[in-house]
Amino acid sequence: MFLALPRCSMPARRVSPCAAGVVLGLLLLAAAPASRGAPPFRIGVVAAENVWGDIVEQLAGDRVAITSILSNPAVDPHEYETNARDAAAVARARLVIANGLGYDTFIDRLVAASPNPARRLIVVAHLTARRPGDNPHLWYDPTTMPRVAQALAEALAQLDPGGAPFYRERYRAFQASLRPVARAIAALRAQYAGVPVAATEPVFNYMAEAIGLAVRTPVAFQKAIEAGVDPPAAAVAQMEDQLRLRQVRVLVYNTQTVSPVTARARGLAARAGIPVVGVSETEPPGTTYQRWMLEQLRALRRALEPGRRG
Ligand SMILES: [Zn+2]
Repeated sequence: MFLALPRCSMPARRVSPCAAGVVLGLLLLAAAPASRGAPPFRIGVVAAENVWGDIVEQLAGDRVAITSILSNPAVDPHEYETNARDAAAVARARLVIANGLGYDTFIDRLVAASPNPARRLIVVAHLTARRPGDNPHLWYDPTTMPRVAQALAEALAQLDPGGAPFYRERYRAFQASLRPVARAIAALRAQYAGVPVAATEPVFNYMAEAIGLAVRTPVAFQKAIEAGVDPPAAAVAQMEDQLRLRQVRVLVYNTQTVSPVTARARGLAARAGIPVVGVSETEPPGTTYQRWMLEQLRALRRALEPGRRG
């Protein structure tokens, strides 16, 4: 059995006079079985978006205590305002993961408000070499997750060297768990590459690109919906004509950034018999990244099936 005694020499620990650590460690041992070898103090982690928090959890289990800031699929993440609880979580955190590309600028403010040179900050946009102005919905790009998992596994092993073999094992399992998602994308691509679709907002566009779908909605329309403003009239007219004239096979509908304009597009799609596939920015509760993606890909497949009418 692995005993979870505190490692007093561990340089990364922030609080913990050694004696107090030993006493607390023994108390924890008495209170709960230590068979999983979790450290007596869980590593504080803040994920700006819950999808990154999910990956941390899949890699680290109960060795970490995760706070995911954007975690409610019922609110528009582009308009989120932080609170004191978020600030306190960042102040305590040893590891922070953020999306970047302007999607979660609140993290920069929270990190700056409680400087800590020992805290690790992972910005997904930097890992994936994205540039300002790029589509920020990086978790829909299937090439993103393997890189994020690798960076997280390395950072966790540095912060908690005793858990390194555990993180390595979880990392391998995580990479293997992505294969069904890759297979689903490849199968859709084999059948539907080049098919024209509409999208109310850019959230799904990296995935659409991976499948080879041709997103026909004007960029100006999608960007305006993303920014929470009214799209230019010409872009709305073009989007609506594509639906009325059935120039697109599916409407990909972001259920989290809705407005009267998107609702109208949805109504037009329904009247034209174009299937609507709902997608969200924030990972729904009680699922995993892999299941979430597979469910959305299955819904897309059903919508694209020949002869299918909305
Ligand atoms: Zn968005």
